Amino acid sequence: MRIILLGPPGAGKGTQAELLSKKLGIPKISTGDILREEVEKGSELGVKAKEKMEKGELVDDELIFAILKERLKRDDCKNGYILDGFPRNIEQAEKFYKLFNDQQELVIEISVNRDEIIKRLTSRRICKNCGAICNILLTKPKINNKCDECGGELIIRDDDKEDVINRRLKVYEEETKPLVNYYQRKGNYFRVVGESDIEEIFNRIYAIIKGNMRRFAERRGDYL
Ligand code: AMP
Repeated sequence: MRIILLGPPGAGKGTQAELLSKKLGIPKISTGDILREEVEKGSELGVKAKEKMEKGELVDDELIFAILKERLKRDDCKNGYILDGFPRNIEQAEKFYKLFNDQQELVIEISVNRDEIIKRLTSRRICKNCGAICNILLTKPKINNKCDECGGELIIRDDDKEDVINRRLKVYEEETKPLVNYYQRKGNYFRVVGESDIEEIFNRIYAIIKGNMRRFAERRGDYL
């Protein structure tokens, strides 16, 4: 089963994908994380992506497909995976659908209102060392500005600055939000409100996944 987490930046897709990955034993694939690693390394791909990312705009579809296809070749993907941050527009969704065309996609939107998103993103910090995400309003780090996981320095992501946040939200509304309609029509779409606590949201998402597992297994012919 391929699980697609849809939702605006700051909806909690990364956090939920991480929890689901542990629970289901399948990897979380975040195109944003992969791109940030490439930018950090200074690779050719990272150089190409950097400018768009800093402005809060979408990186070219071709580049995204190149990194995604490479990632999906790894062995850990054979039993499924959770996508966080992909697809970001109809073109990506269509192209991805055509790669498999086996009705094994489950799409879960995490919806959060705009004021809450801005509050979350402006208080989000990321560990420079291990990439762990925290929120200084919700889960205050034990030591100021230090990561609870590894003690690394906590920094603000370049694209979590307020002007870039506004741009990212506009891009989401214009390019990504139409995917809700797209997947609703396909009939593999579910929505959870992402404004309660992390565990409660996780339980709701997990219930949706469990409720669909049999349907997906039957489609694969596992119960025949
Ligand atoms: P994220 O961590 O998912 O918020 O992604 C951070 C940035 O990476 C986005 O603002 C885009 O510039 C870029 N990005 C991540 N995933 C995609 C994608 N599927 N398509 C285009 N750009 C992406």
